[in-house]
Amino acid sequence: MSSLFPALDNAPAKPALHFGDQILDYPTLRSVALTLAGALRDQTRVAVWATPTPGTAVAVVAALLAGVPVVPLNPKSGARELAHVVGDSEPSLLLTPPGVAELPPALAGLPVLEVAVDVAADAAEPEGPAAVDPELPALVVYTSGTTGPPKGALLSRRAVAATLDALADAWGWTERDVVVHGLPLFHVHGLVLGVLGPLRRGGTVRHLGRFSPDGVRRALTSGGTVLFGVPTMYHRLAETVEEDRALADALAGARLLVSGSAPLPLPDHERLWQATGRRVVERYGMTETLMNTSVRADGPPATGTVGMALPGVEVRLVDDAGRPLDVGDGETVGEIQVRGPNLFSGYLNRPEATAEAFDAEGWFRTGDMATRDSTGGYRIVGRRSTDLIKSGGYKIGAGEIENVLLAHPGVAEAAVTAAPDPDLGERVVAWVVPRDPAAPPTLEELSDHVVGQLAAHKRPREVRFLAALPRNDLGKVLKRELV
Ligand code: ATP
Ligand code: MG
Repeated sequence: MSSLFPALDNAPAKPALHFGDQILDYPTLRSVALTLAGALRDQTRVAVWATPTPGTAVAVVAALLAGVPVVPLNPKSGARELAHVVGDSEPSLLLTPPGVAELPPALAGLPVLEVAVDVAADAAEPEGPAAVDPELPALVVYTSGTTGPPKGALLSRRAVAATLDALADAWGWTERDVVVHGLPLFHVHGLVLGVLGPLRRGGTVRHLGRFSPDGVRRALTSGGTVLFGVPTMYHRLAETVEEDRALADALAGARLLVSGSAPLPLPDHERLWQATGRRVVERYGMTETLMNTSVRADGPPATGTVGMALPGVEVRLVDDAGRPLDVGDGETVGEIQVRGPNLFSGYLNRPEATAEAFDAEGWFRTGDMATRDSTGGYRIVGRRSTDLIKSGGYKIGAGEIENVLLAHPGVAEAAVTAAPDPDLGERVVAWVVPRDPAAPPTLEELSDHVVGQLAAHKRPREVRFLAALPRNDLGKVLKRELV
């Protein structure tokens, strides 16, 4: 049938999609997705109103079976962002999961088709789709917009298959796995890894609808084997698990706990490990590249790193002039560049941005800075644009200082940025959400705390207090708003 989802061919009698109390088994998914696919053949590109429901998964699978590219839309995005995405991607049809009451005015004028997730009583056996060129786009996924307006990345069917198979190798991911998560379904993490991943393996998606530590506990004690989350979710688990033995047992019983999309602070790693005896595995990817590196399930823990290059992916560090840095010292910082079958085919409508993103040999410039250790493991320092502070002749990574600040008892959340400084070039600024707003830690206290653990030039010269850090829907800190 489709090379993306071999499990739909023999459609085993087991759950494919399990969202809340709604379960679609493989025969049902096969039937509803093929029926919908038949209705999509003449479309050029379909948008999907990507609520965290089985209807979203059915819509995406059906479009992929029909060979029609999918643009997942964030139902929570504002009018401006929605207009940008729809105007840029020009879908010919909008698919909505059942029961969507009202659509925003930005979508007016777009034909709408509601997805059915039940097999019609008189349904005939639908026709299987023809083979589809693996280089055709499967998805147009918009980047998270952390550093600027979201860009549409064209992700081929080849790239999706390559990344999911590389992760299967790294994580020992099989049809027996039930992947638990509460991620949104309009980004790579929740949609590609969290829905298409289990379906490609012939396993099960167990979506929590809305993330909660309680939901995680219940899902992991009733068949869930693997947990996917972003750092804000693991932070909530870390906050809860010390007081909640049942949650600790549930996490301890999982086969694999995976974090990605942003750095998982070391204090959260440590607290989870203390309470559960388990190490969270980090992987590193981007919308444009899908997954590049991961700590392996069968390898050493490597806490604080994002692991090694995934099979089939070439990863290297380069200096400011783009020259490869052949290092394994765990200290020299370079920009990560990647090459491999997991890479996107370009940005939609942005030939210049696409050309700029690659060097002459086809290496993709990630804009992320990292070190590499002697085992080939990468430690992400941060983004070149927002996390690298050039102060007094030093290059300082914001993440390292954030980790130390977060370990201070008076600090609930922390982000570090650079501010122009007449003497130093740039100075380190700490943005802190105090645990007790009535008694925030002083600059001196925080500065001493940092100097106690890191070199003196890394101490914050200025502290600014906030009630909460600005974050996007994946919990990524929006540093461009910290000015
Ligand atoms: P935009 O490109 O629109 O500014 P974005 O870069 O946040 O937004 P994504 O493609 O969703 O959009 O995110 C990719 C980025 O997320 C990576 O470039 C990297 O900076 C960060 N990232 C992903 N996984 C990790 C991880 N495990 N540790 C640290 N950073 C990570
Ligand atoms: Mg990006």
